[in-house]
Amino acid sequence: MHTKQIRQIEDAVRKQLSLDSTGHDWWHIYRVRNMAMHIAKKENADVKYTEVLTLLHESADHKLVPDEQKSLNELSAFLTNIGLDEKYIARLIQEIPEISYRGAKVPDTPQSLECNIVRDADRLDAIGAIGIARTFAFGGKHNRLLYSPNISPELHANFEAYKDSKQPTINHFYEKLLLLKDRMHTKTAKAIADNRHRKMENFLRDFLQEWNLQDFKH
Ligand code: ADP
Repeated sequence: MHTKQIRQIEDAVRKQLSLDSTGHDWWHIYRVRNMAMHIAKKENADVKYTEVLTLLHESADHKLVPDEQKSLNELSAFLTNIGLDEKYIARLIQEIPEISYRGAKVPDTPQSLECNIVRDADRLDAIGAIGIARTFAFGGKHNRLLYSPNISPELHANFEAYKDSKQPTINHFYEKLLLLKDRMHTKTAKAIADNRHRKMENFLRDFLQEWNLQDFKH
């Protein structure tokens, strides 16, 4: 893997995500790459492969593309075209779809250390202050209610149900974001997640206090 090829991948990803307003724009990739490379160094993983997998991790995401298999095929052709090794491409194509969260009751399938690191880094960008901002950006773009006290969170048992969910945005915290702290794979990510988790708990406490007029003296 040469620096020129990394630049070519980076340019293609930047172009693909340039118009995204759901929290999956280029700067999401940029943050996740920095985090993944930090974790990879701490965990003695293959830093270069982790970087490439991070750059490509949203390339065939169901939230961003109409046909995941078609996007993976196009990606494979692009990577061949810029001269990547066949085995290296096959590993990327196998691991990219494994990074996404698939529902509260759907366990992550065991993957390589590098794939787990990208999962962790992606999940760290889904929680904390940035995670809160991204979640409301996504909810707004997808016409979701902020919150409804009449609609309870659902702990999805399969990926289809999770994908089809149209729940209010606050419910997403209970269906995914608050569960991520305990679904980190590496020690390095677990330690970072604890602090970001507390920020979400504080936010939800404040949100519900204001909703119920409990934040001032009556
Ligand atoms: P994953 O691939 O695990 O889904 P991503 O980084 O691609 O992770 O995107 C997940 C982010 O998209 C969530 O953390 C959240 O900010 C937003 N998101 C996804 N689904 C929803 C939803 N139903 N309601 C609100 N935000 C959502």
